[in-house]
Amino acid sequence: MSEGEAPKWTCPVCGYAGLREPPVDPTGSPTYSMCPCCGTQYGADDLEKPHAELRKAWVETGAQWWSQNEPAPEGWDANKQLQAAGFADGGPRN
Ligand SMILES: [Zn+2]
Repeated sequence: MSEGEAPKWTCPVCGYAGLREPPVDPTGSPTYSMCPCCGTQYGADDLEKPHAELRKAWVETGAQWWSQNEPAPEGWDANKQLQAAGFADGGPRN
């Protein structure tokens, strides 16, 4: 394992690709980490609702950056992020 290289994960709800902790650990257990982008807590919020529903709720409330402690990356764009992750509503579905 090489240190100094921070691995990043993608949020299954909003598509944010800069997560510092994975939503689930290698055994498949939720890490209870939170997405700084959409505010989903893995293992809690996504136990109650499927990712698609959480995503819809996030988009419907304006797709705002959630975290107060971790600022959005420069030039962050919710729509571009959703599109890049293949989650865009109204976009081509294939
Ligand atoms: Zn997210």
